[in-house]
Amino acid sequence: MNLVMLGAPGAGKGTQAKRLQDMRGLVQLSTGDMLRAAVAAGTKLGTQAGALMERGELVPDELVIGLISERMEEEPDGPGFILDGFPRTIGQAEALDELLKSRGEAVDRVLVIDVNDEALVGRITGRYTCATCGEGYHTLFKKPKVEGVCDRCGGTEFKRRKDDTEEVVRERLNAYHAQTKPLIGYYTAQGKVRTVDGMADIETVQKEIDLALDGA
Ligand code: ADP
Ligand code: ADP
Ligand code: ZN
Repeated sequence: MNLVMLGAPGAGKGTQAKRLQDMRGLVQLSTGDMLRAAVAAGTKLGTQAGALMERGELVPDELVIGLISERMEEEPDGPGFILDGFPRTIGQAEALDELLKSRGEAVDRVLVIDVNDEALVGRITGRYTCATCGEGYHTLFKKPKVEGVCDRCGGTEFKRRKDDTEEVVRERLNAYHAQTKPLIGYYTAQGKVRTVDGMADIETVQKEIDLALDGA
């Protein structure tokens, strides 16, 4: 099953995608993570993307389509992908259809995680991750069980993203509303969309997602 996670920045896509990866063996493909790796590695692509990411703007379609296509080629046939943060434009969605078609596959389900803008700002400004394994945390909503120690790997170093400031989040939300939201219509027309209420707590959202995927 190939699953697209759609939702504004901070909606909980990464949190839920990681769990679906662990529970269902799907392969999570996050263009945000791929781009941050390119920035950290100092590649030409990373330099080009980094400046746009710092401003909260989307990077050009060709660039992310190239990244996704390379990563997909590395994956043999398997249980499927969870696309987290891709596609973000209609052009990307069309490219994804082509990439999957060449594997004899398609997008099967699109999960929309619905959260209101004001809650999103609080989620983003409180977000941090384990520097070792990438597990996501939040200063209010998801603290490690033992303070300063990652639940998942025992790591003690944590980091915050440079673009997780209130000012940049507002820009990212604008980009979401203008460029990404039209994808809901694109996939609704294909009968693939299931919407979950992302305002609930993490466990409740997980349960709703399971119902949306396993139900009709
Ligand atoms: P996205 O990948 O959509 O940008 P994340 O999964 O990184 O979002 O979640 C953003 C922040 O909000 C993280 O700090 C995460 O721990 C927290 N979070 C995720 N889901 C919920 C939820 N349902 N309720 C409260 N906080 C949440
Ligand atoms: P979030 O879900 O919290 O907004 P991501 O990690 O998915 O964050 O993306 C961070 C930044 O990387 C975006 O603001 C954008 O600049 C860039 N980016 C990630 N994925 C894409 C994409 N599919 N198309 C264009 N830009 C992207
Ligand atoms: Zn960890």
